[in-house]
Amino acid sequence: MSELRRDTLSDRWVIVAENRADKPDDFEQSGIPHRCPFCPGNEVDTPDSVATYFLPGEKPAGNWQVRVVPNKYPAVTPGGVNGNRRPLANVLGGLHFAKEGAGIHEVVIESPQHVLSLSDLSPEQASLVFLSYRDRLAALRQDRALAYGMVFKNVGAAGGASLEHAHSQIIATTFVPTEVRREIAAAQQYYKTEGKCCYCTTLDQELAAGVRFVGQSQSFAAFCPFAGRFPYETWVLPRRHASRFEESSPDQLAELAAFVRDLIGRIESALGPLAYNYIIHTEPFDTPRLDHYHWHIEILPRITRTAGFEWGAGCYINPVPPEEAAAVLRSIPVGKTS
Ligand SMILES: [Zn+2]
Ligand SMILES: [Zn+2]
Ligand SMILES: [Zn+2]
Repeated sequence: MSELRRDTLSDRWVIVAENRADKPDDFEQSGIPHRCPFCPGNEVDTPDSVATYFLPGEKPAGNWQVRVVPNKYPAVTPGGVNGNRRPLANVLGGLHFAKEGAGIHEVVIESPQHVLSLSDLSPEQASLVFLSYRDRLAALRQDRALAYGMVFKNVGAAGGASLEHAHSQIIATTFVPTEVRREIAAAQQYYKTEGKCCYCTTLDQELAAGVRFVGQSQSFAAFCPFAGRFPYETWVLPRRHASRFEESSPDQLAELAAFVRDLIGRIESALGPLAYNYIIHTEPFDTPRLDHYHWHIEILPRITRTAGFEWGAGCYINPVPPEEAAAVLRSIPVGKTS
């Protein structure tokens, strides 16, 4: 059981999750080998799957390609009584406010092969991974106690991964995370004064300028953001305005998976194998389709450390100008890593 604590001083939520300390770690220097819980044959090491995906045409008797399982060491848990996930508020007095760490924490095991990066998957496998994100977010949205579903991927120790086998995670929470609230508030402010979506506007501007533009497919475009926090930070947006990732069609998801896989391959071609994160920012569950918010994927290479100044100031120091990173990424031919 975990606990959500609100830091009133900074308007920030913190999850206190003691059981997370017990999870196995491929990257720690204990020297004690453990078997990979995500490899085929070791399914018993993970909770039963909530969704399983097979390659098209393969009967369910065939090998699974993607498995979605509850996280064995969850940061948030279904909790509550009688399956009711509505969190129990617990005002502790003064400024201290805490509630049960209710939510859903799932792991998307991306491949039956023990591979490390999204770029190691076949385009078909990557497509199933993005399809699973859509399906799970659409299912979690139905739970009225949940406010937000965050899809994210950690690769490498510097990216916060504890297991190396390619996987991503979904944490659905009873609150809208601070970063998302901040983005939506900024977008709302721009919409109020300019009457248009600031993401659509940015996309137009980056396409026209070209210097930070990385590439595009039929429905998606990628650029290195003007004020990117990390070297080679790359954002992917649908070219047509859309606020909900989970309303993407299967064809769009296949196209998106191939596009993101190629971008990560290009970043790896430029920098060598590296730790990275990506996150999907989509709108909160309990909102109508927003004209001012535009879903996107942020790919965050982790070749620099987040240090004292970043923590203290909330201001990042990026040693590689986004224009330079974009030029390098553009110079690597599409599909080179396929
Ligand atoms: Zn494995
Ligand atoms: Zn837009
Ligand atoms: Zn974002």
